[in-house]
Amino acid sequence: MKVISVVGHSKTGKTTTIENIIRELKRRGYTVGTIKEIHFHDFKMDMEGTNTHRHRQAGAETVTARGDRETDVLFDYKLPVNEILSFHKEDFVIMEGVRDTSAPKIVTAEDEEGILAKLDMTVFAISGKIAAEIDSYRDLPAIDGTRDIMRLVDLIEEMAIEPLPDVDQDCCGACGFSCMELSNRIIRGLSKREDCVVDHQETKLLIDGREIPMVPFVERILRNSVLGVVKELDGYKEDGKVEICIRK
Ligand code: SF4
Repeated sequence: MKVISVVGHSKTGKTTTIENIIRELKRRGYTVGTIKEIHFHDFKMDMEGTNTHRHRQAGAETVTARGDRETDVLFDYKLPVNEILSFHKEDFVIMEGVRDTSAPKIVTAEDEEGILAKLDMTVFAISGKIAAEIDSYRDLPAIDGTRDIMRLVDLIEEMAIEPLPDVDQDCCGACGFSCMELSNRIIRGLSKREDCVVDHQETKLLIDGREIPMVPFVERILRNSVLGVVKELDGYKEDGKVEICIRK
């Protein structure tokens, strides 16, 4: 699964650009998922007085509304982006308005001020209303997602990456950079997605079937602690695979 995020102020052509991207990716035979960041602080799908709301009030942590045409799983808190992405199985996930991610980004804007407000090191293209007037901004291509969607999606195919773990740099930096910096280097062709060492570790931790990424420091502690105990047991083999399942 590869991801990008489209960011920009409202009414800059963000959603229209995303609609066009989705249609073109689908036309090319890909499966597509989306994540929409809602910036309205009081947003909730669930309404006071509904049965699902009553379940929540009674203490349920996760509530599911199952209908003939739609199933909605309602969490009672804001999920981290990578946790949401772990539910997605599509070829591409296009995020709208999500900025707290190292995923490569497109900025939609109607003027330079709008670009500058959203510009960070992970941006690889400019689009939206301003792209009807300019061809580039600094070293970034400006591509009109309405008139030149083929070119924009060609670029997305090239730039989208599997999500990086997005851990705090103080906890990792094992690739020599932060996750944001590595994303920037991948966009510029200076590094590869495989340079993130977290994906290639020998120890895997799954909680409720979901893999939990571990920075090298934590992976070493867990690995050494487990091996320190199990190597004393009968049946231990130096080159064997150790699996532990803890049920609570
Ligand atoms: S090794 Fe991976 S998780 Fe660690 S800082 Fe680099 S990109 Fe992030």
